[in-house]
Parts: sequence; structure tokens; C-alpha cells
Amino acid sequence: MVRCESKKVVRRKVLKVLISAGPTREYLDPVRYISNDSSGKMGFALAAAAKALGFSVTLIVGPVAIKTPVGVKRCDVVSADEMHREMIKRSKSADIIIMAAAVADWKVRQKSKQKIKKSGAESRTLELIDNPDILKELGRIRRSGQIIVGFALETEQLEKNGMKKLIAKGCDWIVANSESTIGADKAQAILLGRGGERVVLPKVVKEKIAKAIFREILK
Ligand code: C5P
Repeated sequence: MVRCESKKVVRRKVLKVLISAGPTREYLDPVRYISNDSSGKMGFALAAAAKALGFSVTLIVGPVAIKTPVGVKRCDVVSADEMHREMIKRSKSADIIIMAAAVADWKVRQKSKQKIKKSGAESRTLELIDNPDILKELGRIRRSGQIIVGFALETEQLEKNGMKKLIAKGCDWIVANSESTIGADKAQAILLGRGGERVVLPKVVKEKIAKAIFREILK
């Protein structure tokens, strides 16, 4: 009789992290667009921190000029609609989703196929319509066990508006920070959790903020 010792193989599940970063661009015509000053640094710092923790990381990135952290999968997009499509498509299999992108809130109703000509008129009106709110939709379609993190860039009443956003968007955490953070190397943030957590992070480089965010959300 042969008796083999059965070796129990314990396979640790590799957490899948989906992160959006950078701005989006909403073209009015082939050469002009609406956008913002987001550098993408925060999203990339989060991706590097997640990779260092051994996670499988995918970055959905608006137009930025930053090198991809080693081992991170990257998907480049331009508009909010493209970012929306890529985030929703990949969201089901993600364990942690972080919307660090500064998604443009509006796009023009009708993008011109040709460069819009200057006319003699003194003013011009652009008709803008809302872009899809990706974070809100991710909160609505979330599967159980998922951790969803949003960002709130506020020019006033940082914490109060951050809390409002946490509830309105149905996410688990909101990283609230002021407008001085955009494009900067350092950030000062308050991390607000659905369970009443409130963590004030000191003004440090975004790499440190990213590590602190993972430390808190994985507790
Ligand atoms: O509503 P507000 O733009 O201030 O919300 C910020 C958060 O919502 C960020 O996490 C941002 O990535 C996300 N967002 C989004 N879709 C939008 C606008 C913002 O997912 N259209």
C-alpha cells in the first residue's frame, strides 16, 4: 500500500487593483480641448505602492507624461467616455478600485469634425453636457467585497464636501484634498471612511500618501 503524504498547497489570492489616473480631454474639434492640470502623479504613486505590495495592478490613464511603474499594466485613454468604458469593463474582476483621475465633468454636445473657424462674432457659446460619473456608477454596480476609493478635490469646506461625496458616490473611502494638490509633488489629504474613519495625512510626497492610503484601506 502506498501512502503519500498529501501536501497542502496554500495559494494566496493575488489582489487585483484597478486605478485611474491623470486628466481626461474633451475635444471640441480636432485640435482644441477642455481639460485640467492633473499630472497623474497620485494615480501612478498608488499603482507603484500597490505593485510593491504584490498586487496585480492595472492603470487606466488619461494623457500624461509619466513612466509606467515596473510590472503595472497600463491602458491609455483620452476622453472620459473612453475611461468610463475601460474602467467598467475591468471593474468586475477588481478587488480594489481607486478613481484618482481628474475626470472632466463635461464634454461638448457636438464635437466638430473640422477645426472651428474664427468668425467675426465677439462671443461664442459652447453647449456642454455631463460626462458619465464613473465613480458613482462603480459604486452602484459594485460586487460584494470590493473596496472602492474616490478622490475629492475641494476648494472650500474640504471635509464636509468630502463626506458628501463619499455618500453620494457610494464608495468606501474618499481622499479629500485641496486644489493646491493638483500637479504638485506633495499632497495634504484627509482620508474619510464609510465606517466613520477619519485619518489626517501630513503634507508629504504623493508616494508616501499612496502607501498610507493602502495601509488604512487594508486594515
Ligand atoms: O464629483 P467630483 O468630480 O468632485 O468627484 C471626484 C471623484 O469622482 C474622483 O474620484 C473622480 O475620479 C471621480 N469622477 C468620476 N467621473 C466623473 C467625475 C469624477 O469618476 N465624471
